[in-house]
Amino acid sequence: MIISVVFIPLERLFALHPQKVFRKAVLTDVGYYFLNSLVPGLLLSFPLALVAAFVHRFIPAAFLSYVAHMPVWARLSAAMVVGEVGFYWGHRWSHEIPLLWRFHAVHHSAEQMDFLVSSRGHPVDLVFSRLCEIAPMYVLGLTGASSSLQGSWIPIVVVLIGQFWGFFIHANVKWRFGPLEWLIATPGFHHWHHTNDGPEVINKNYAPMLPWVDWVFGTLFLPRNRQPERYGIDATTSPILFGQLMEPFVFWRKEKPQAAATTQSESAAMPADAPAKNI
Ligand SMILES: [Zn+2]
Ligand SMILES: [Zn+2]
Repeated sequence: MIISVVFIPLERLFALHPQKVFRKAVLTDVGYYFLNSLVPGLLLSFPLALVAAFVHRFIPAAFLSYVAHMPVWARLSAAMVVGEVGFYWGHRWSHEIPLLWRFHAVHHSAEQMDFLVSSRGHPVDLVFSRLCEIAPMYVLGLTGASSSLQGSWIPIVVVLIGQFWGFFIHANVKWRFGPLEWLIATPGFHHWHHTNDGPEVINKNYAPMLPWVDWVFGTLFLPRNRQPERYGIDATTSPILFGQLMEPFVFWRKEKPQAAATTQSESAAMPADAPAKNI
């Protein structure tokens, strides 16, 4: 894991919360890293084949051909934004719909944050959110003129950028980036998504890369001089990987999404207009 050579020293030098490299649940997360580099990709090919068939049947060929002839930079940029909005809603539904939360809760069960928490996720959750991200790209023809799955490198590039960025936004670093934090996701932005500091600050910041998408849909929470104190969820989760993989299927086990406060927090609209800490 080359990525650990980059992040372990950075997290030692610029830690937001002091913690050991071999923190609680680190081995489980290494397990997820290997599991999730294989399984979701394989599972995803089935629903994506259905999406491709839908596109072939229902989206006018002239429209697909028009989009396919747009410059590559325009298609790639559009795919980034379209994928982001798709992921945002898939992710938000994973918090709001109890059946989806069962699977997504695994990602949120981490009580200590570092880059490796990015890998921690139930394969069903990963397949669902990736599908929400990629399907709109196919429907809008951003993946090429053909509705087949071949040659569609654009979603692969978007997913790879997102995966790399995912390690960064989970990292246990105290850096703040001022107004840039509205433009592109940072640890300061995504750590708030993992907080368990109270009902008024949970269920915020769903976007994986572009925080302004949260602003558009009214879920941005980015206070300038404050960082989360506690992470995790109220429910208890199995300490072992196999248990965590099986738990969402135990349907007699009651599992309710974390409940947010009903009133919108004022500070959600506050711009992060000055750097609070280092960088
Ligand atoms: Zn989430
Ligand atoms: Zn996360």
